[in-house]
Amino acid sequence: MAAFSRGRQGIKSLCWFRTLISTRNFSAGKFDYDLVVIGGGSGGLACSKEAAQLGQRVAVLDYVEPSLKGTKWGLGGTCVNVGCIPKKLMHQAALLGTAVKDARKYGWQIPESLSHDWSTMAEAVQNHVKSLNWGHRVQLQDKKVKYLNMKGNLVDKHTIRAVNAKGKEMTVTAKNIVLATGGRPKYPTHVPGAMEFGITSDDVFWLKESPKKTLVVGASYVALECAGFLTGIGLDTTVMVRSIALRGFDQQMSGLVTDYMEAYGTKFSWKCTPKSIEKLPSGILRVTWMNLNTKEEHQDTFNSVLWAVGRASETKTLNLDKVGVEINIETGKIIVAADEATSVPNIFAIGDIAEGRPELTPTAIKAGKLLARRLVGHSTELMNYDNVATTVFTPLEYGCVGLSEEEAERRHGKDQIEVKYSIFAMVQFTVAWKRATRIIVVCLREGDQRVLGMHFTGPSAGEVTQGFSLGFQCGLTYEHLRNTVGIHPTCAEELIKLNITKRSGLDATVTGC
Ligand code: FAD
Ligand code: NDP
Repeated sequence: MAAFSRGRQGIKSLCWFRTLISTRNFSAGKFDYDLVVIGGGSGGLACSKEAAQLGQRVAVLDYVEPSLKGTKWGLGGTCVNVGCIPKKLMHQAALLGTAVKDARKYGWQIPESLSHDWSTMAEAVQNHVKSLNWGHRVQLQDKKVKYLNMKGNLVDKHTIRAVNAKGKEMTVTAKNIVLATGGRPKYPTHVPGAMEFGITSDDVFWLKESPKKTLVVGASYVALECAGFLTGIGLDTTVMVRSIALRGFDQQMSGLVTDYMEAYGTKFSWKCTPKSIEKLPSGILRVTWMNLNTKEEHQDTFNSVLWAVGRASETKTLNLDKVGVEINIETGKIIVAADEATSVPNIFAIGDIAEGRPELTPTAIKAGKLLARRLVGHSTELMNYDNVATTVFTPLEYGCVGLSEEEAERRHGKDQIEVKYSIFAMVQFTVAWKRATRIIVVCLREGDQRVLGMHFTGPSAGEVTQGFSLGFQCGLTYEHLRNTVGIHPTCAEELIKLNITKRSGLDATVTGC
C-alpha cells in the first residue's frame, strides 16, 4: 500500500498527493505494482520495459546522486551518461584526429598544426546523451512504465520508500522488486587531496573545459580508455599503474595495447602509486607519488587527476540488511542465484550490483529482459553469463571472448592447449605507418581442437569480436576456422588464416596475401 510522508505541507505537497493518487489509480490489487525496479540504467530499464510489455504493472525509480564534483545527469544509468556512450564518442573523436593526420599521406592537404577544441566535442557528446535521456523517458511512457525520479530504499520485502530531490517521500508496494542500482567510481580515500581535487569518469565526460594535462590513476578498462582518448585529442596524458595493466586479460595482448599507447603518446608510470595531491595557488595540482620498486618519491604537476581505480556497488543506502538481502561484505555486491534471486525470494538483483556478474551493459540488459520474462511466467530461460565477449576501446582496440592463454593453461594444463597466433600489419594504415598487431586463438590440443579463447587487436575490434563470438557460442573449433573462407583484405580474415602455433617457435608474421 502506498503511504505519503506528512512532514511537509502546502500546495506543492498537494500536487504531490495528486500524483500519488494517480499512481495508485493506475494500479489495483494487493500491491501498487506487480514489479518495482530500483535503478533506471541498462538492466533496470530493460527489465521494467519487458515486464510492462508482458502486461505487468511496473514502476521504475531512477535517481542520480551528483558526483563529489557536483556532476549530474539524466535517465539511463552509467552506460548512457557516464560510460559506454560518451566514452565511445570521445574515442571516435580521437580516432578521427589520427585519421586526419594519416590522411596527409594519402594526399589530403591538411595544415601542419592540427588542434582540437574540447568544448565543441563535449557539447556535441552531451547533447547526444541528453537526447538519449529523453528517448528513455518517452519509451517508458510508451510502454506504460511509471517513472519515478526518486531514490529508493527497502522498508520491507514488498515496500519501497522513495524520496525525490526536494526531500518529498512516498512509499510504493510491489509483488516483486528488482534491484539494479549499478555502481559509482571509487576514490582512494587514503590519499590526501584525492577526493577534494580529483575527478572520476562520472565527471570527465561532462567537463565544459578541457582537463588539459591529466594524470590517470588505474590501469584497467576505464583508465586506459580515458587515457587513450585524452591522448588522441592531443592532451598530455600519463597513466599511473600500480601493478599490471588490464588484469584478467591476456597479458601478451595487454602489453600490445599499452606499447601502442606509448607509441601514440601516452606516458606510463609503471609500478607507482600516488601519495598526495595538493592544489597550488595557481590552481595546478601537485601530485606526489612513490615508485613501488625503488621506494623513491617523485612529484609533477597536472591540471587534472582522474581516478579510475574501480567501482563500488550502490548497495549501501538500500537498507538491504533490514530486509535480509545478503551481500558479499568484501565487494559490497548482492549475492544472487542463477535466476538473479537474492536471499529474499521476491527480491532480485541484476547488472553491476550482482555478485560475480560481468560489469557490462549487454549482460545487464539481457539479464533484465530474461528476468522479466521469468517473473511473468513467460519463460524459464536463465541468463548465460559464460563466454561473454568484450572490447577495450583503447587507441589499439582489443576484443576478446573466452579464456586468456594464462587462464587456459591454468584450467587445462600447458600441454593440453595449443596457442595459434599471427602478427600482421593493419592494411588500411600501411601507407601512413606500419605497425604490426596480433591475434591469438587458444584451443584444446586434442580432438576437434575446440576454441577456448579468441583475442583480436586491431581496428573495429568490437565489430570483429562480436561476429566471432557467435561462432564461439556455437562451439567453435579450429577446424571451423580453417574451413571458413576469408574476406580480403580485412584484419578479421587473419583469424581464420591462423596456422602458426606458439609451440613451433616459428615466426608468425604475415608477409603477404
Ligand atoms: P547502471 O547503468 O549504473 O544504472 C543504475 C542506475 O540506478 C543509475 O542511474 C543510478 O543513478 C540509479 N540508482 C542508484 N541507486 C539508486 C537508488 N537508490 N534509487 C534510485 N536509483 C538509483 N559496458 C559495456 O558493455 N561497454 C562499454 O563500452 C562500457 N564502457 C564503460 C565506460 C565507463 C567509463 C564505465 C564507468 C562503464 C562502462 N561500461 C561499459 C559498463 C556499463 O556502463 C555498466 O556495466 C552498466 O551501465 C551497468 O548497468 P546497471 O543497470 O547495472 O547499472
Ligand atoms: P577495474 O576494477 O576493472 O580496475 C581497477 C583498476 O584500478 C585496476 O587497474 C587496479 O589495479 C587499479 N587500482 C585499484 N585501486 C588502486 C589504487 N588505490 N591505486 C592505484 N590503482 C588502483 O575498474 P574499472 O573502473 O576500470 O572498470 C570497472 C568495470 O567497468 C570493468 O570491469 C568493466 O566491466 C566495465 N567497463 C567496461 C568497458 C568496456 O566494455 N569497454 C569500459 C569501461 C568499464 P590492480 O590491477 O593492481 O588491482
